[in-house]
Amino acid sequence: MSKPNNFVILGGGISGLSAAWYLSRYAPSTSKIIVLEGSSRFGGWIKSKRIGKHKILFEQGPRTLRPNGIGGSVVLDMVNKLNLIPSLHAVTKGDDAAKNRFIYYPDKIVKLPGTSLLSSMKSVFMNNFLLKSIPSILFEPFIKPARNYHDETIHEFISRRFNKSMSDILISALVHGIYAGDINKLSVRSTFTSLYNLEQNYGSVIKGLLMSNKEDFLSQQDKYLLKMINDENKELLEIIKNVSLYSFKDGIEQLSSAIVNDLKNKDNVQLKTNNQVTKLEFRGNVKIFTNEAVYEADHVISALPSRILYYILPEKNVLPHLDYNPSVSVATINLAYDHPKVLPIKGFGYLIPQSTPHNPYHVLGVVFDSNAMPLQDEPPRTYTKLTMMMGGHYFNSISEKDDFPKNEILLQQSIEILEKHLGIYSTPLYYLVDIQKNCIPQYYVGHYSRLKELHYAIKKHYANQLSVTGASYWGISINDCVLNSARLVLNILANSPNDVVTGLEKVEIQNEHYL
Ligand SMILES: Cc1cc2nc3c(=O)[nH]c(=O)nc-3n(C[C@H](O)[C@H](O)[C@H](O)COP(=O)(O)OP(=O)(O)OC[C@H]3O[C@@H](n4cnc5c(N)ncnc54)[C@H](O)[C@@H]3O)c2cc1C
Repeated sequence: MSKPNNFVILGGGISGLSAAWYLSRYAPSTSKIIVLEGSSRFGGWIKSKRIGKHKILFEQGPRTLRPNGIGGSVVLDMVNKLNLIPSLHAVTKGDDAAKNRFIYYPDKIVKLPGTSLLSSMKSVFMNNFLLKSIPSILFEPFIKPARNYHDETIHEFISRRFNKSMSDILISALVHGIYAGDINKLSVRSTFTSLYNLEQNYGSVIKGLLMSNKEDFLSQQDKYLLKMINDENKELLEIIKNVSLYSFKDGIEQLSSAIVNDLKNKDNVQLKTNNQVTKLEFRGNVKIFTNEAVYEADHVISALPSRILYYILPEKNVLPHLDYNPSVSVATINLAYDHPKVLPIKGFGYLIPQSTPHNPYHVLGVVFDSNAMPLQDEPPRTYTKLTMMMGGHYFNSISEKDDFPKNEILLQQSIEILEKHLGIYSTPLYYLVDIQKNCIPQYYVGHYSRLKELHYAIKKHYANQLSVTGASYWGISINDCVLNSARLVLNILANSPNDVVTGLEKVEIQNEHYL
């Protein structure tokens, strides 16, 4: 069997775009690369919009990137190669937005322990639930580890190794901030993978934190990739050392737009919007049917949500589990006030844990955008900008599209909550309200084992004709999505034609370490 030369990528979110970008850089120039996007724009959940007369920047999807880990390095390398460094806006480790994080529990805003010893001690001693966590941290190294490769919910894991209140309050708030998800359903193995790996390898999270080295859980291939990137970007990585989070002058969409612009300049790449893929057919090659045309490929990379891949496959039961995990919907309410000092506190924002007793509108958290990214709007006007997120797993019981709360209601609710939580009585000058439907995949317990079965089924039925990437599989952050597309493309290009690449081959690594 010869190596694939004609690639069709399904889905033009960050995963599909980055797969196309890596192919365009590393595949032979004779390769043909087509990206099929169903909607009228590229970027998927990345949506940075400028609103009103003053063109205020609002983020409806992701708003910040982290420079850490191998995913952080891979994205920074991409940012550098796309000449985006001059547009980079960073939160440095000394900024309020890096140091000050809050939760709302049980009925007030509480500052979480940060980088300063004094303020951390103050917040621990003033809050009983933080004080109660101290013994559980001290005793954690003495708790027997779970049996090998056992998966459980995040709640079970944290309660078992630390205590229930840490899980119910601190970790649940974090899970709302990342997954908008239910701590009682999500798999610890597939969401808090580094904690899981520490227990598996050191018998204790705390012992592991003290003894492990950053590269301990990287595969040989990742170590090689990281070294290559680090060598190429030495100066940049030195500068970025002090950065906690970053975005760009025009928001995160500047990244997806820069990839699109770069791909438009490549002769062997075709970018197609308004091409909703409806059906795949696997014969000698793969036929891809959209509402517009029929395309042919040697190899199809699906960067679609797994549930959509399930619907377009020719036979429904051949690939298992694609429709197992649900995705949650999140209401985003972006608000801008015509005054720089509306907020009573400075920081990144606050999260609300599942255990907060009174949360009638199911708020997940509030980001203080103007604290985190103060320079994304044009001077001399300065605004206070906030984004409230509501719903997530709390919206799971809503089955019909029309049953979601209306935008006017969500706006009223957010204003009421901000009065109560932060004492904000001003009226926003601009706002943008929307519900991002089915936007964050939820890796329920057993996700890893399901990926394993899926991997072998793709190998058996669609070997070398289909591979998968995207937020449905190995992590939802932009860093994860780009990293997994990079790994996939490098594997496809490096492997001998007889090695089958599915995008899920990590499940074959014997010691099952991964990050
Ligand atoms: C509100 C919110 C906040 C977030 N915040 C952050 C953050 O701060 N930092 C961070 O790192 N991550 C964040 N994330 C996560 C991250 O943005 C997403 O996980 C990531 O963008 C997913 O990218 P993707 O390409 O895998 O999927 P998607 O963005 O879903 O892309 C899939 C693409 O496929 C297209 N498509 C669907 N069906 C078809 C079809 N039949 N034919 C053709 N095309 C089709 C879709 O239109 C879409 O463009 C956030 C996500 C959300 C929703």
